[in-house]
Amino acid sequence: MTRYDVLIAGGGNAALSAAISAARDGARVCIVEAAPRAWRGGNTRHTRNCRIAHDAGNGILTGPYPVAEYTEDLMRVTGGVTDEELAAITLERSREVWDFLAGNGVHFQPSLGGTLSLGRTNAFFMGGGRAMLNALYRTAEDLGVDVFYDTAVTALRIEDGFFVSATVTENWQSETPRPREIGARCFVAASGGFEANIEWLTDAWGPAARNFLIRGTPYNTGGVLRLLMESGIRTTGQPDQCHAVAVDGRAPKFDGGIVTRLDCVPFGIVVNAHAERFYDEGEDFWPKRYAIWGRLVAAQPEQIGHVIIDAKSIDLFMPSVFPPEKADTLEELATRIGLDPARLCETVARFNVACIPGDFDHTTHDTCRTEGLDPPKSHWARPIETGPFYAYTLRPGITFTYMGVKVNRDARMVMQDGTASPNLFAAGEIMAGNILGQGYLAGIGMTIGTVFGRIAGTEAARYVSN
Ligand SMILES: Cc1cc2nc3c(=O)[nH]c(=O)nc-3n(C[C@H](O)[C@H](O)[C@H](O)COP(=O)(O)OP(=O)(O)OC[C@H]3O[C@@H](n4cnc5c(N)ncnc54)[C@H](O)[C@@H]3O)c2cc1C
Repeated sequence: MTRYDVLIAGGGNAALSAAISAARDGARVCIVEAAPRAWRGGNTRHTRNCRIAHDAGNGILTGPYPVAEYTEDLMRVTGGVTDEELAAITLERSREVWDFLAGNGVHFQPSLGGTLSLGRTNAFFMGGGRAMLNALYRTAEDLGVDVFYDTAVTALRIEDGFFVSATVTENWQSETPRPREIGARCFVAASGGFEANIEWLTDAWGPAARNFLIRGTPYNTGGVLRLLMESGIRTTGQPDQCHAVAVDGRAPKFDGGIVTRLDCVPFGIVVNAHAERFYDEGEDFWPKRYAIWGRLVAAQPEQIGHVIIDAKSIDLFMPSVFPPEKADTLEELATRIGLDPARLCETVARFNVACIPGDFDHTTHDTCRTEGLDPPKSHWARPIETGPFYAYTLRPGITFTYMGVKVNRDARMVMQDGTASPNLFAAGEIMAGNILGQGYLAGIGMTIGTVFGRIAGTEAARYVSN
């Protein structure tokens, strides 16, 4: 049996942060990545930035973002459903993330336009998540970390909360899988959530989950999470809690990434399959609301929504990757997207008469709103009357699930009886539910992975050296 000091399941940011930290502290480390090399890096490939506390701007970050403000933001979005000790560690240690990543070859750049106004709070990776990952892989390999691609962790030998070895299966998706045993002094689970496991999503959400699109990697199927649950590790978080946005209904089932998100909702109305509105499209600025629309659409019949806008608004948001449906009349538009034309015209007419005149300004909470309409549109409400008319179809796009393993401040997994395992650690999405009981703050996914990846790697190396 091959032996290492630290065996890490996963090949994204959390795994790399753990691997580099453990290797720098002298441990012999291997990474087992389920994806082939060309697809390595899980959801991290799709990322653009991480949210980090800092006391002053630095030429790229446009101003300070104190830990106290970060804490308030997290408490607001989670409604306090968070492990306060672990949240405090994440936010306090987010101050070190820039130096850690930069020290391991990652470069940063100012935020791009159309990126949800994050220039002060979020550090953007130059070249995006893939370039960031390439830098971390290079560093890990230079430190002697062995990486096995196209190899999944398929079984774990855990005795009373003590990790002994893992079965790792090379070419695990082929007709000739090759299982073998790797022993290690410590195991770090950094294998993502279970968002790509449609069966598991269906258990949590019911049949509606079959209509969800998965924004990221197809490899995050929760296999390691399941093995850990079967080995007596305690879980945290609810299985239906996740980050979900409304994406273009034409996006691929997996891996559509960020380009399939649509930012046009505040400029029009959103109707369901019955051509009825169901939520205030102008409740707040889009960066504060985009993450609720995945759930809103998931709750609609057939898990579908349609944004309807007119010629006045088509140039006001980030261009979409797929062109919208376009028609000179609302009736024609309705037919193209499979809605009852009469019903859509009725809904639009009701909306149009409810719009009270105001000064349209999409950069402020303007005075354009509806009166006497249920649900209301609180801002940016303008009659939809100027052809051509446009429609985008929306589907729920799951970013990642929150339910995962319970960990303590050392990133050690907690057993059912409340004791911490001596040599089982977790980082990233697989334990994000400790901090994100619900809600989301843009850029915190990468921060959780880096902070807890570093802790897991350091603690694993400490355990090995003792
Ligand atoms: C489209 C999109 C955009 C995003 N943008 C941002 C952003 O800008 N900022 C931000 O903070 N967050 C963002 N996120 C969330 C972010 O991607 C995650 O929070 C973060 O990447 C999680 O890192 P991780 O290492 O835990 O998981 P991942 O990067 O997903 O890595 C998990 C790894 O585990 C591997 N794996 C799975 N099962 C097994 C197994 N059985 N054996 C071995 N390996 C296995 C997978 O192949 C994968 O490599 C985005 C997500 C998506 C989908």
